[in-house]
Amino acid sequence: MFWKWVLMLAALFAASGLCARPHSEQVAFTFDDLPGLSLSTSQEFVTAYNTRLIAGLRRHHIPATGFVNEGKLDALVRERQIDILKMWLDAGFALGNHTYSHISPNAVGAKAYTNDIARGAVETRALDAAHGITLHWFRHPYLETGTPADEKHKIDHWLLENRYTIAPVTMENSDWMFSEPYDDALMRHDEAAASHIKAAYLAYTAYIVPWYRRAGHALLGRGMSYVMLLHSTRLNADTIDKLAEIFARNHLMPVTLEKAMEDRAYEIPDPYTGADGIDWLERWGLYLKKDLPWDDFKEPPEDIQAYYKRVDR
Ligand SMILES: [Zn+2]
Repeated sequence: MFWKWVLMLAALFAASGLCARPHSEQVAFTFDDLPGLSLSTSQEFVTAYNTRLIAGLRRHHIPATGFVNEGKLDALVRERQIDILKMWLDAGFALGNHTYSHISPNAVGAKAYTNDIARGAVETRALDAAHGITLHWFRHPYLETGTPADEKHKIDHWLLENRYTIAPVTMENSDWMFSEPYDDALMRHDEAAASHIKAAYLAYTAYIVPWYRRAGHALLGRGMSYVMLLHSTRLNADTIDKLAEIFARNHLMPVTLEKAMEDRAYEIPDPYTGADGIDWLERWGLYLKKDLPWDDFKEPPEDIQAYYKRVDR
């Protein structure tokens, strides 16, 4: 009789959700295109915003992983670009490889692509090692992983042979589309435009983060650990406090990339061999034959898209 009551109570609690363990979701912040993605060709500009972005991440106890394009080192002052990478490492963050020249495998094929990855690891591997880190993270530019299947498999095989771990993306806010217009507005000293872009960026992020959480739930039926794609930009340096707030409001606890990827969701195969750079929730959706909640997905505002097209180099 006693056990019957216990079971009934347990069933009641479970049905009301009271028994369900509060599953706090997690997020790993990743920043691509280090030392920096900027319209400005001023080393001061790029160094200054990196300093503030890193300080902001530290202030909010947000661990981060940076993905380097070594081809960018000589685009400005090489030594000072390397100093930026050292700043990320000194802050306790790890650096990964994002290819040397930010190319697409679709444009050059597996052979040239993997050569470019190898070329992109020279400084980063040494800098990581000087901080006790073994370089192993790799992030595909444009999230393009190779097409057709044969090319993708060659790249995957090369990455495995060379002990890389692919860093998937399971959440993003198209920050790159807002950041060049923002740089342009700042460089033209158009403060009204800059503050409009900043507000639009934060509003879009506040909309899209919960969308990704709904998408994760639609796929897995539970909360998960996300990998958030951002870029090293002045816009993110200027909004980091507000970004941290948005993630906190969504109950997403910042964790390292290693920690986020302990979520078993990251064991789901990626069967996608198409040309478009799609995120990993969409890839898993193909494997699991489940739809994401596309009906309420939103692109960034049209004025931002138009502004980006105007200023992107
Ligand atoms: Zn990139």
